[in-house]
Amino acid sequence: METTQQTLPSLFISHGSPMLALDPGQVGAAFQRISHNLPRPKAIIVMSAHWQSSRLEVSTQQQPDTWHDFGGFPDALYQLRYPAPGAPHLAERLITILGDKGIAATPNSIRPRDHGVWMPLLHLYPEADIPVIQLSLPHRATAHDIYAIGLTLQGLRNEQILLIGSGSITHNLAELDWRGELDGPPEWASAFKNWVINTLASDGVDQALDWVRQAPYALRNHPTDEHFLPLFFALGAGQRFSVIHSSFAMGSLGMDIYRFD
Ligand code: ZN
Repeated sequence: METTQQTLPSLFISHGSPMLALDPGQVGAAFQRISHNLPRPKAIIVMSAHWQSSRLEVSTQQQPDTWHDFGGFPDALYQLRYPAPGAPHLAERLITILGDKGIAATPNSIRPRDHGVWMPLLHLYPEADIPVIQLSLPHRATAHDIYAIGLTLQGLRNEQILLIGSGSITHNLAELDWRGELDGPPEWASAFKNWVINTLASDGVDQALDWVRQAPYALRNHPTDEHFLPLFFALGAGQRFSVIHSSFAMGSLGMDIYRFD
C-alpha cells in the first residue's frame, strides 16, 4: 500500500548547557510538544554548532557513538547514550543533492555524535529509533553559505525528514550568570533576541543574514558565530516562521526554539 509522505518543518533549537540532558526544565515540555504535534520523521538531519570542520562534511556512519564532548559535569551525564542509527544511504544522497547545486560535501564515517545533536533528540525522540544524520559547520562559512545549504535540502522536508539547526539564540559563555544573581535577562541579550524574532516574523531574510551589522549587540551575544549559524540552516530549509519556545537560562543564555513551515 502506498503511504503518502507528510511534510515536516525545519527547526532551530537552542541546545543550552549539557545539564539540560538531565534536567530540561520548562524547555522539556516544549520538546515534548514538538514531537507530539509532528508526524513521526523518517529521518532527522542535524547541523550542530559543535562540529566545526574545514569543509562541509556529512556523517555516513551506520551506528555513531554518543560523544560526551564536554568536561566537568556530573557522572550521570556521561552515562547517557543516544543509540539512534545513522542513515548511510540517505547521507550519500545528501552529498549528491548538495553537489548538484555546487556545494561540495565529503562523507565522514568515523565521527561520533556531539551533544548538540543527541541532547535535544534525547528529549524530542527518547526512543532513539529514528535514523539521524549530522552535517558539519564549515569554519569559514557565512550566514549566506549556511542558508544555501538549508535551501538546497529543503525538498527533503516533503519526504517526512526533519531538518534541525542546533545552536543557541544567544551564546556568550563569559557573561553567564552561574549563581543566579540576575533578576532577568540583561538588556543586550533580550534586545538581540527580540530583534531576531521581529526580523524573522516580518520575513526579513536579508536583514537576518546581515545580522552582524544590523542586530543590536550582535558580537556581545555571539563573540564567535558557530552557535548562531545553525539558525540559517533552519531558515533556508523552511519559510513560515513561528516561535515554539522563548526563555532565558543563567541570565543571558537564550533557550529559544523556532519552527519554519
Ligand atoms: Zn553548544
